[in-house]
Amino acid sequence: MAIITRFAPSPTGRLHVGNLRQAIHNWLFARRHGGQFWLRIDDTDAARSREEYVDAIHADLGWLGLAPDGVERQSARMARYQSVFDQLVASGHLYPCYESAEELDIRRKILLSRSLPPVYERTSLMLSADERATKEASGISPHWRFKLNHDAPIIWDDAVRGEQKFDPGRLSDPVVRRADGSWLYLLPSVIDDADMHISHVIRGEDHVSNTASQLQMFAAIGAATPSFAHTALLTGAEGKLSKRLGALGCDAFRESGIEPEALFAMLARLGTADPVEPLIDRAPLIASFDFGRFGRAPARFDMAELEGLNARIVHQFSHEHVAARLPGGMDAAAWNAIRPNVAHVAEAADWWAVVEGPIAGDGFDADDKPFCATAAQLAAQIDWNGDPWHALTDGLKATSGRKGRGLFLPLRRALTGRDHGPDMAALLPLIGQARAVERLHAAAR
Ligand code: GLU
Repeated sequence: MAIITRFAPSPTGRLHVGNLRQAIHNWLFARRHGGQFWLRIDDTDAARSREEYVDAIHADLGWLGLAPDGVERQSARMARYQSVFDQLVASGHLYPCYESAEELDIRRKILLSRSLPPVYERTSLMLSADERATKEASGISPHWRFKLNHDAPIIWDDAVRGEQKFDPGRLSDPVVRRADGSWLYLLPSVIDDADMHISHVIRGEDHVSNTASQLQMFAAIGAATPSFAHTALLTGAEGKLSKRLGALGCDAFRESGIEPEALFAMLARLGTADPVEPLIDRAPLIASFDFGRFGRAPARFDMAELEGLNARIVHQFSHEHVAARLPGGMDAAAWNAIRPNVAHVAEAADWWAVVEGPIAGDGFDADDKPFCATAAQLAAQIDWNGDPWHALTDGLKATSGRKGRGLFLPLRRALTGRDHGPDMAALLPLIGQARAVERLHAAAR
């Protein structure tokens, strides 16, 4: 069987971290099984869908390296939905309903107050042709519900959740089309999944009860049903998908210096039995992707964990990979020296500024000033082509008797203006002899 997955966002806002995770799952599953990954833009809601969000979806997937093998748009398929609608009305699978939202709401409350399930009672289904005609003559246009078949339980084997069983009698017949003719998501999605030969529907567990209804819709249109995998949702460190997490999208990640490789590596493994690892190469992430490894508990998204992972990813980046984002003149030797000290690529510029100067190199005490003066003299004499840092510190150890912190800290401070930073052996050649001598002199004054 050909494996085809789809990521089906609605362009009514920016993708957030939960959506991105779904996209990654769909992509990984398709790649793992040599299949295709499609993007479907769910833009049936014309009032809320915006073109700028469609563009943003493409841009975000591009940033994450999730190029789709094909793109479909629901707004381009309205004629197809209409023809299926006509068939399903004729076959009695769809029926017109005339209740107002207020009436439905009151009915729901009454049922709940009697401890009954708040299920739609098919009042409109019981109307005679005359009664329907009267309603329509009085100006009420119907919305449309899908008539669930109550004969047998709805059962499927979910790739993440195992066997799922629903009693259709405890579900409301879902509304599929509004009175103004616009579509709700359920039925168009089924028609698309059937027409696009989607083999696996991979989405969040908030869709589990939709799946129960949708399975009957596949049957009603005479289509084969895809397999389903419903993953547990993401929660923030505080326990639920908070507003903050819901607003966290690619832009915010990019602005805070999170690399797509880090986000991808994290979201690929979060909620699975496999550890989140700083993997730049996607091959092991593809190879290990398996719904059998997913847990049922919500997956915790922790920004601090992502930051840590980001640093470990940045530390592996080659100069070539980041060159366009580095300050001019920062070559491979400079990147390799500075790389272990940055959590974000942009921070390399701070260290490059330290290399190029000026730096704040004052405030040395009476003991350290003469030490820096000696260091300046020695720095002017040593062979800078070898290993100047070891030549300098070995020489000073012998002449001053200093060692450890007392030896290294004043030198680091005089040469960089900071107490911490990249390995001095790698940094000093970048600073160069002239600047080093000048900085040591300045510290001695
Ligand atoms: N547009 C739907 C959503 O964003 C798609 C759900 C699905 O994957 O079927 O929730």
